[in-house]
Amino acid sequence: KLGNETIKAELGRAAWKLLHTTFARFPDKPSEDEKVALKNYIHLFQRLYPCGECASHFATILEKYPPQVSSRSAAAAWGCHVHNQVNKRLQKPFFDCSNIGDFYDCGCAETEEEAAA
Ligand code: FAD
Repeated sequence: KLGNETIKAELGRAAWKLLHTTFARFPDKPSEDEKVALKNYIHLFQRLYPCGECASHFATILEKYPPQVSSRSAAAAWGCHVHNQVNKRLQKPFFDCSNIGDFYDCGCAETEEEAAA
C-alpha cells in the first residue's frame, strides 16, 4: 500500500513533541529506577513506533547513540542530537541544540505544590 507522507509527517511532529517534552521534564537528578524507566521508554518507543520504516531507521540510530539518561540536560541534549540525525537523513534543517532549554514547555507546573497553588 502507498504511504501517505502528510500523515507520516503529522505523526512525526506529534511524536517528537512528546519525546522532547518528556526529556525537558525528566528529573535533574534521576533515581536509578527513573533512569531505567526512561531508557526502557525510548527503546519501546522505537520498537512500537507505528511507521515501520521510521522505526527501523531509528533502531540504527539508537545502536550508534545509546539513550543518555543521567540527567534532564543529558536526556534533552541526546534527544536533540538523535532528532538531528533524522533531520539529516531527511535533508531537513539542523536544529541548534543550545536553544533546546526553554523550547519544550509542558504547560504544567514544575511541582505538585505549584499545581495546587
Ligand atoms: P519535525 O522533524 O517533526 O520537527 C518538529 C519540530 O521540532 C520542528 O519544527 C522544530 O521546531 C523542532 N525540531 C527540529 N529538529 C529538532 C531537534 N533536533 N531537536 C529538537 N527539536 C527539533 N519520516 C520519514 O519520512 N522517514 C523516516 O525514516 C522517519 N523517521 C522518524 C523516526 C522517528 C523516531 C520519528 C519520531 C519521526 C520520524 N519521521 C520520519 C518523521 C520526521 O522526523 C518528521 O517528524 C516529519 O517529516 C515532519 O517534519 P517537520 O519538518 O514538520 O519537523
